[in-house]
Amino acid sequence: MLTTVVGSYPPYPRGPTSLIEKIQDIFGMYDKYKPAIELAVVDQIKAGIDIISDGQVRGNMIEIFAKKIPGMDFVNGSAIVYGKILPPKNPITVEDVKFAIKLKNKIKKNVKVKGIITGPCTLAYSSKIEGFYKSKENLMFDIAEALKVEAKFLEKLDIAMIQIDEPILSTGIVNIKTAKKVIETITDEVSIPISLHVCGSIVDIFEKLLEFNVDIIDCEFAGTKENLNILEDVDLKGKKIGFGCVNTKTNKVESVEEIKKRILKGIELIGKENMVIDPDCGLRNLKRESAFNKLKNMVRAAHAISN
Ligand SMILES: [Zn+2]
Repeated sequence: MLTTVVGSYPPYPRGPTSLIEKIQDIFGMYDKYKPAIELAVVDQIKAGIDIISDGQVRGNMIEIFAKKIPGMDFVNGSAIVYGKILPPKNPITVEDVKFAIKLKNKIKKNVKVKGIITGPCTLAYSSKIEGFYKSKENLMFDIAEALKVEAKFLEKLDIAMIQIDEPILSTGIVNIKTAKKVIETITDEVSIPISLHVCGSIVDIFEKLLEFNVDIIDCEFAGTKENLNILEDVDLKGKKIGFGCVNTKTNKVESVEEIKKRILKGIELIGKENMVIDPDCGLRNLKRESAFNKLKNMVRAAHAISN
């Protein structure tokens, strides 16, 4: 079974330390987030993950995109929309993903990297409209157009997949039919595998999610146990399930045995061939030690079953 992460990792930006870095800093060319990406990449590889991320270290999932999409901004801890949303002139995440690819090629070539986009529904519903738009619906479609451009930048890289994060869908605020149209604005135009990550309880929307034009539906099955019920006698319609099997809401590290039990339950319900193993959600808010050990134990559990 393939192992991956949802995306974010505890961020450790670091100031310049070597002479070269200090000189770069004088000229405004030092990037304190590069050491944070390196730390995330190295930890994920050491833990044994097959498909890693760049760690999404530059901010939270809303901030990273709201700061870079024309028409949006991120001010005092929240996203605002002040004007017409336009596609970003420069790629938002591509440089960091490229850097992650370069790093992993030096350490372990057969590891793959994924690109990650915060979904248009989640971005729209996490923002305060201060201008131009009257409704979240029009806003969602325009954000999707902007993110389509980012997805097209990403798919040119040597990556295994693109993941779209839409936690907002589990809240029921967004009409699921509209969400499908909005998300397919992006996925219909991209030819590499797409995973849709929705954390929280998906009991009420899972059947609908299976109709989306994506390849993997990625959900929480450790911290949100009721999600397991939806896998009983389900017709996956050719999709794979991203099987979140590590609780990301607590620093307590689950034992290999405990994680193995969860994975075996998943196998019993949908079969090994339909599962991609990952944590419930991003690891950004955990202690580094917990994040690392959760990944390490998860990989051990998956390997213990595969072998
Ligand atoms: Zn999540």
